[in-house]
Amino acid sequence: MVGGILVWSFNRLWTLGGTIALSGFSVWGISFLIFTQGGWIPMIPAFVGLLVSGACVLADKSIYQTYHDTLTGLPNRRLLLRKIQQINSGRGSDSQNLIAVLFLDFDRFKTINDGLGHEAGDDLLIQISDRLQQKLKSQILLARVGGDEFALCLKQINDINEVQKLADDLQKDLSQPFDWKSQEIYITASIGIALKRLDSNFQAEELLRYADIAMYRAKELGTDRYEMFVEGMDTQAVERWQLETDLRAGLKNKEFQLYYQPIISLKTGKIAGFEALVRWVSPNRGFVSPGDFIPLAEETGLIVPLGQWILQEACEQVQKWHEQFPDVVPLIMSVNLSGRQFNQPDLVKQIKAILDEVNIQGDRLKLEITESMMMNDVEGAIKLLQRLKELGLRLSIDDFGTGYSSLSYLHRFPVDTLKIDRSFVGRMEEGNDSEKYIQIVRTIISLGHNLDLDVIAEGIETVAQVEVLESLDCEYGQGYFFAKPLSAKDAEVLLKQN
Ligand code: C2E
Ligand code: MG
Ligand code: MG
Repeated sequence: MVGGILVWSFNRLWTLGGTIALSGFSVWGISFLIFTQGGWIPMIPAFVGLLVSGACVLADKSIYQTYHDTLTGLPNRRLLLRKIQQINSGRGSDSQNLIAVLFLDFDRFKTINDGLGHEAGDDLLIQISDRLQQKLKSQILLARVGGDEFALCLKQINDINEVQKLADDLQKDLSQPFDWKSQEIYITASIGIALKRLDSNFQAEELLRYADIAMYRAKELGTDRYEMFVEGMDTQAVERWQLETDLRAGLKNKEFQLYYQPIISLKTGKIAGFEALVRWVSPNRGFVSPGDFIPLAEETGLIVPLGQWILQEACEQVQKWHEQFPDVVPLIMSVNLSGRQFNQPDLVKQIKAILDEVNIQGDRLKLEITESMMMNDVEGAIKLLQRLKELGLRLSIDDFGTGYSSLSYLHRFPVDTLKIDRSFVGRMEEGNDSEKYIQIVRTIISLGHNLDLDVIAEGIETVAQVEVLESLDCEYGQGYFFAKPLSAKDAEVLLKQN
């Protein structure tokens, strides 16, 4: 008994070794003491008993630790995979039932660790594990498979609805507040679900990976929801991962270039400025358009260093052209800003540093932002825009009319320009609805003018569109009709021709 208790209570090897040695010595001491008093107890069996019981408990404890999570006491990934594999190999050949794995990951768990400390994070995980255990029936296997990741395995299910209902119930349960030092903590979970028929041959790792991929999809689609794994999601996930790897390498190896699309004054027919549009010339993928990599760059945060480079490069370019072509009207360089950049706390400082370094006036640079970027926190966005205006920058609302329309706020945004989205411009002479689109464009232009903003029409492809826009008093135009986005060299040729 003493051997067992000692091994159970001590984790460090040297303290354990020390106490065992001490106990051995005590056994000897006691035996010797009794011997001096004329008594006799056998010392060797007691000593062997101490060692054997200690060894047994030690073996049991290390097996337990190999298969369990130390924080919550739940089975860990290894045990979960073993159990799934057992279910797979023990399946009956006539079994039509399903096995399901649910992969739970808590949304923004990091903010709890960062904000309240790791102690709170650990306590929350224990509470989550308790709540899940209470909720789940005993035949459902629950495991903790990562930091804030839990997985459940359900066998013998008859249809998908059962699993979906469970996912719904779990989400409802978890949305109830947790308690940390009498403070309520709210947390949500994204859940991925993978299913297999029990009579099909599958690998446990594969099933768990599929559920994990589906969980990522749930996160992409906005968190606090569940998604089922469907065929093809895994190849998508691999492609995404590959794209991300290439993108990181691209940033390191400077594989990005800026192209410049002229913005033309419809009054004078001359170049008024350019919009900088990023291109990726990847050694593996060739020429990649921004639509194919900006969303991922945004998601992974790579847009932050990339966006900084874009701003710097565009400012340097416009300054160079300003010196090279002093006769041309002062050109304005428009640069697209992504949501992630817009939310950076030191955006104003970054831009100020670039303006100072390149030594250009703030009014040479126009930032293009979209309505949806400002709608999360309108008051915060207005303050930020005001601070950007204090640098002398110009601001433009890109793709106007396609986002989260914010007419009630529009007059409060300190912007200079509305850019009419090309989906309206392109449809002005197309099909039965062309007249309606002309009216929409007319309305946007007069809205802009009434608020003292100038208007740029994007995506102009035909002379007829130019004529309509001129008749509607639109100030500027941009589109393939005038020029496609050009390399700096080609843009220079155009500037020379003025
Ligand atoms: P956007 O800011 O609305 O840019 C205009 C897009 O319309 C560009 O596509 C441009 O090539 C295309 N375009 C211009 N004229 C025409 C036309 O007449 N017809 C048609 N069909 N298309 C025309 P691009 O370069 O592929 O960029 C797509 C989007 O990617 C941009 O939309 C912008 O949202 C984003 N993007 C591009 N460059 C950057 C960048 O440097 N930073 C950030 N954050 N986003 C960028
Ligand atoms: Mg733009
Ligand atoms: Mg646009």
